[in-house]
Amino acid sequence: MKAVVFEKFGEPPTIQSVPDPNPAADGVVIKVEATGLCRSDWHGWMGHDDDITLPHVPGHELAGVVVAAGGRVTRWRAGDRVTVPFVGGCGHCFECTSGNHQVCEHQFQPGFTAWGSFAEYVAIDFADTNLVRLPDEMEFATAASLGCRFVTSFRAIVDQGRVTPGEWVAVHGCGGVGLSAIMIASAMGANVVAIDLTEEKLEFARKIGAVATINASTTPNVVKAVKQITNGGAHMSMDALGHPTTSFNSISNLRRRGRHVQVGLMLGEHAKASVPMSKIIAFELEILGSHGMQAFRYQAMMEMIRTGKLKPELLVGKKISLDEAPVALMAMGGFEGIGIGVVTKF
Ligand SMILES: [Zn+2]
Ligand SMILES: [Zn+2]
Repeated sequence: MKAVVFEKFGEPPTIQSVPDPNPAADGVVIKVEATGLCRSDWHGWMGHDDDITLPHVPGHELAGVVVAAGGRVTRWRAGDRVTVPFVGGCGHCFECTSGNHQVCEHQFQPGFTAWGSFAEYVAIDFADTNLVRLPDEMEFATAASLGCRFVTSFRAIVDQGRVTPGEWVAVHGCGGVGLSAIMIASAMGANVVAIDLTEEKLEFARKIGAVATINASTTPNVVKAVKQITNGGAHMSMDALGHPTTSFNSISNLRRRGRHVQVGLMLGEHAKASVPMSKIIAFELEILGSHGMQAFRYQAMMEMIRTGKLKPELLVGKKISLDEAPVALMAMGGFEGIGIGVVTKF
C-alpha cells in the first residue's frame, strides 16, 4: 500500500510503498477514506512522543470501511463504515472496565503506538471496544474530523468541564480544537468568549456561536478583557492551543470555583509551564485534563449531529491528497488555516 513514512524525527516524510497491514485477532483493517491533519502528528514527527518507534506512519483522525476482521472480533465485518477515537481502550484494564477508555493503561493510538492512517489501509486493535458506526448520511471527511479534536472538545466541555446553560465559557485558541469547543459549548447553552490572534478566525468563531471575541494580538490584557465581558470571570475556560501563555490566561480568567480544562498539548519545552497556584487555592479552582473520548460516548454526540445541533462539517477545512500530506504535516507546527484539513484522495 501507499503510505506517508518518516524514518527520522524532524526529517521530511516521504510517500513509500509498504506492506499491507493484517488485522490482530481482536482488530480490524480499515480502508482509509479520509484522515485529518493535526498538530499532534507534527509533535509526533518532531520526536515529542515517546510511543513512536521508527520508521513510522502518522495519522490518527480517520474514517473508512472495514476490509478484514480478526478471529475474535464479533461486532464488525467487511463493509462496515466506521471511525475510531484517537485513544482506543483495551477493554480489560481497570480504567476500561470503569468506563474510562480514554486513559486506558494499554491504550492503542493509531499514528502513535502503531502505524496510522496516512496510508491506504490502517490496522486498528481492540475493535469491538472502540469502533464507532457511521450514520449513512455522514461523509467520511466529516467523520474523520471528529476523531481527535471534536470528540476531545466534546468531552472537555460536556464531561470534564460540566458546562451548564447560561455559564460563561472562555476558549483560548481558535484552531480545530477551539472552534469545536465553541460550537459544542454554545449548543450546550453557554455564552462563549473566543480568544485568538487573528481576526479571520474570530469572525468564524462568531459565526459558529461565540457571543464575544478578543483579539489577543491587539488586547494588552486578555485576562482583564475576559473578566470584563463575563462580569467577573469565566465559569469554565479552556486552553485549546497548548502554550504557556494561553494556559496561564485560561486559569487566570476564571471566577471563583471555576474549571480550567487543558486540551492543547504541552510538550517539549512547554511541558512544565507555570500555573498561578496561589489563585488556584484561594479561588478553589479546578484544573482538569481532557484526553480523547470513549467510543460509547459518541452516541450522545452523534445524536446532536443528526439533529443539527452540532455541525462538524462546517469545521472541515482544506481537502488534500495523500501526496500533499508530507508538506502539510511539516507545516502543522505553525498556525493552521481555518478548520480541520483532511486527506480525502489516496
Ligand atoms: Zn484498558
Ligand atoms: Zn489529532
